[in-house]
Formats: sequence, C-alpha cells, structure tokens
Amino acid sequence: MRAVTVLPQKANSLELSDVPEPTEADVDVLVDVLAVGICGTDAEIIAGEYGEAPPGHDRLVLGHESLGRVRQAPSGADVAEGDLVACIVRCPDPVPCANCAAGQWDMCSNGRYTEHGIKGLDGFMRERYRSSADRLVRVDSALGLAGVLMEPTSIVAKAWAEIDRFAERDAEKQKIALVTGAGPVGLLAALLGVQRGLEVHVLDQVTDGPKPDLVRDLGAHYHSDGIENLGVHPDIAVECTGVAPLVLGSIEVVRPNGITCLTGVSSPGRTKQVDLGGLNRALVLENNLVFGSVNANRSHWKAAARALRAADRGWLERLLTHRVPLDDVRRAFDRGADDVKVVLQIGDLS
Ligand SMILES: [Zn+2]
Ligand SMILES: [Zn+2]
Repeated sequence: MRAVTVLPQKANSLELSDVPEPTEADVDVLVDVLAVGICGTDAEIIAGEYGEAPPGHDRLVLGHESLGRVRQAPSGADVAEGDLVACIVRCPDPVPCANCAAGQWDMCSNGRYTEHGIKGLDGFMRERYRSSADRLVRVDSALGLAGVLMEPTSIVAKAWAEIDRFAERDAEKQKIALVTGAGPVGLLAALLGVQRGLEVHVLDQVTDGPKPDLVRDLGAHYHSDGIENLGVHPDIAVECTGVAPLVLGSIEVVRPNGITCLTGVSSPGRTKQVDLGGLNRALVLENNLVFGSVNANRSHWKAAARALRAADRGWLERLLTHRVPLDDVRRAFDRGADDVKVVLQIGDLS
C-alpha cells in the first residue's frame, strides 16, 4: 500500500513509498485512513530537524493528525466496524514512569514515550493501519472530514483542562480570554473558550484572508493591532504562536491572579531585552500563573471529541482550507498565505 515516508533527520527525503500491509497479529483493530491533517511538526520532520523511525526501519511513515474508519474490530471492542476514529498520537514509555503508568503519557517524565509519525512509531499517511482499541477515540460521524481536527483539538482541550483546574484557586470568576495566533491551534483554543462562555479575543497579524471572519463568526473579537493595543486585560491568555514578544506580552497582559498558558514552541536563539526583575516582581505581587502545556492524554482526546461535536460543522470545515489527494502529497506542503489547515485526503469519506 502507499505511504508518505521520510528518512528521519535527513532533509527533503519525502517520498510516496510502497509499504507492507499492517499485519501486527496482536493489534486487533484495522483502520482505513481517510484523511491526515498537516502541521508545522511535519514540515520540521521533512526539513530533517527531528523524527525517529521505528526500531529496525530506515524510513518513518509521516502524519499524526488522523481520521480513519474502522474496517475490522473484534466483537465487544470499544469501537465497531464503520466507526470514525482518531488514533492517540503518544504511547506510554515501556518502563513505565509514574505518569505513563497512570495514563498521563502527556506528562511522561523520562522522555522514553513514542509518538506516531514523529518518534519511533509509524504515522498515518498510509492507506491502512492497525491499532489496539484502547488507542482509538471515536469521532461523531456527523463531523465528516472535520473529524481530522481531533488531534489539534486534543492539544487545546488539555490546555483548557489545566486552565480550568488552576482557575479554581481564584474566587473571581474568569470572564475574558485572549488567544494569540489564529492558526488552527489558536482558532480551536478560541472555540473551546467560547464554549466555556468566555468573552474571547484573538490576536493575529493578518487583516484579510479567512482568519478574521472565522474569529468573528465564533462570536469572538479579532485584533491585529499588536498586543500592546489590545484594550482589554484578560483573565486568561492562551499563547499559541511561540513568538517571543507575544510570549512575553501574553504573560504581562493578564490581570492580577491571571493565568497564562504557553502552547507554542519557540525557535531558540531569539533574544529580547527583558527586565526579569520587574517581570518577577509583577508575577509575585499579582499571584500570576504561567505554565506550559503540550500533548494530550485519553481524557483530553475525549474532551476534544465532545468539543467538536458541540461545534458548528460548517465553521469547522472552513478551517480545512486546502485538501490535497495522496498522489499530490508534495503540494500539501506548499503552504498558501491564507491556509489554515491543509488536509491530505487518503480514503473515500462517502
Ligand atoms: Zn500536528
Ligand atoms: Zn513515561
């Protein structure tokens, strides 16, 4: 069968390969891949920055944002033939550490976890894969292709679950949230903020293209005039760009007792003059909380499935700005300026 593969840590080795059918005898659910979302992680793996093939393999099957349909499942399993499913990306480490043992592989403390399409496990840009039922999460069939947003939604579902926990320390109810960045992660973070009943403000640079309308159609406020001109002091900031001045700005802009969640991975080496003493003083005297959030465990994937089910399907589909068939996979990595989420279509959804 066909698969999109790379030689990890070697730049521009992407190819459409012929790979063997999945035959893992002990892994009992067979899934036809329908679509795979593409993100910056894939581009960085293609550029040779990181990535690791499964043990004994040279090439890694790319792709971690999957939507598939169960072709074969044992009776009594949590998923059945015909179900739409997404596969959880990270698998617990073999030791396992205390967190992986508790099902919190998103918090793996020894770094020996594996990740489909990224680190030591093949990904989903292939026609079929096998998985155990406990690694799959059911997706509402009414979502159709928009179900491919499960993985990025799981990331923001975790961020919001953590914010919800930390917010309990504050007797003042949170009302206003800022999201920096109107890419797929930022827009989905805004969606979950609106679903919590918050007044959501989204900051990005662009003034045209689909992003401003996507934000406004959520009932949120769009800003493109810089974080210093926001005009509101949010209770919560969810930083989704990793751009250093916005990271700092999102820490400084929240009100006393506020919470800043960092989800964007910055490129190292960007320096900026910061008054660390002044920043520390402000954080201490205002009881502010700043934390990082990455990856997602099963509870967050299930929260993502609920959030997508409750969202407007037409709005979700507008995030899928570019759909590319498997045979044209190279085109899928030519990002257009107005692209939100590019999707590689592998199987037939109808
Ligand atoms: Zn991704
Ligand atoms: Zn672990």
